[in-house]
Amino acid sequence: MVDYTIEVTIEAVDALNSMRQISGNENGGILLGSEINEKYYRINRASEPCILIDRSSKCGCTRNANKANEIIKREFESSNRTRFYLGEWHTHPEDNPTPSTVDISSIHDVFYKSEIVIDGVFLAIVGRKSIFWGFYEGTQMHNIDVIMI
Ligand SMILES: [Zn+2]
Repeated sequence: MVDYTIEVTIEAVDALNSMRQISGNENGGILLGSEINEKYYRINRASEPCILIDRSSKCGCTRNANKANEIIKREFESSNRTRFYLGEWHTHPEDNPTPSTVDISSIHDVFYKSEIVIDGVFLAIVGRKSIFWGFYEGTQMHNIDVIMI
């Protein structure tokens, strides 16, 4: 992952932190942003929640495809077609979150079953104290260092 540059705007981080799971249910949504250059991405939007959470499992998240697609369309059009789907976010009821095996397999599904524009899928897991940032390129989840802008 050393050859990738990933920026995240303060606005997107603030939006994610506002959905931290202090009490109550897990939440999830999608990440949107732009390609600045080859292997250089900027995440500049965290959507409102649009992932249905299956509360019977510790972290079973099911995407509400219609709502997610509406958001993707809305953001694409309102950004002069520069902002597109980059990945997923969801909350964890822990301070410093790490991806569960369910998380890895659901991102694997997204990678192979969704229309993705770039060569991977981002995952942000919002914990109570920190956010885990990952990038899945088809075989492995990479823990990434993002640059806050
Ligand atoms: Zn999870």
